[in-house]
Amino acid sequence: MKKVLVLEDESSIRSFIVINLGRAGYEVIEAETGEEALEKLAANPDTGVVLLDIMLPGIDGIEVCRRIRLTDPHIGIIMLSARSQEMDKVTGLMTGADDYMTKPFSPAELTARVDALLRRMGDVPAASIAETKSTELSQPPFRLNLTNRTLEKSGERVKLTQVEYAIVKLFMENKGKALSREEILDTVWGHGYFGEPKIVDVNVRRLRIKLEDDAQEPKYILTVWGFGYKWNLE
Ligand code: CA
Repeated sequence: MKKVLVLEDESSIRSFIVINLGRAGYEVIEAETGEEALEKLAANPDTGVVLLDIMLPGIDGIEVCRRIRLTDPHIGIIMLSARSQEMDKVTGLMTGADDYMTKPFSPAELTARVDALLRRMGDVPAASIAETKSTELSQPPFRLNLTNRTLEKSGERVKLTQVEYAIVKLFMENKGKALSREEILDTVWGHGYFGEPKIVDVNVRRLRIKLEDDAQEPKYILTVWGFGYKWNLE
């Protein structure tokens, strides 16, 4: 499944994306407005990744992201912003995007970032022997099911995006160990990924809201200042 939807109102940028993802072997669906994107997404439920421009006439990319996440926790979402300053107001990432790219970006960066997200989904890498034996990681109050890729906290299902799932899995496999942001970035997004470590912080912030009893006073995901994060469970 290599279907990507691109929501971008500027036709030159949209063509750039369509051409380059097309060359990389993706089937690309185009949308000019948020409304059109939501309609086309509903008609193409096998879409793996969506690229959402933020500044749009009508409903903006952040709102589109929020609406997609209401029904679909799994699809990969990358926000596109015009300038890096825009990212500050991209609390948009907090509404459930997995990643963001600042325009302009190169064809290599574009395909690397889309590839990285798609790898997170669908094709689960060949399971290691240890993984085949134990399909569950249990660290009360959390239970991670590696077969269904689901997480429960105190018996209740926590809805995770694919990236969030990958981060939790990495944490649970390394409990009590300080992981650097670069290490998390390399493992979850893959080597050769063009993104910045800041994306790790955004995803962790969102995970804390989902996992912690009080996101302001985290007790499961601790910050290791100037370094990264630690999963604080026995
Ligand atoms: Ca725009």
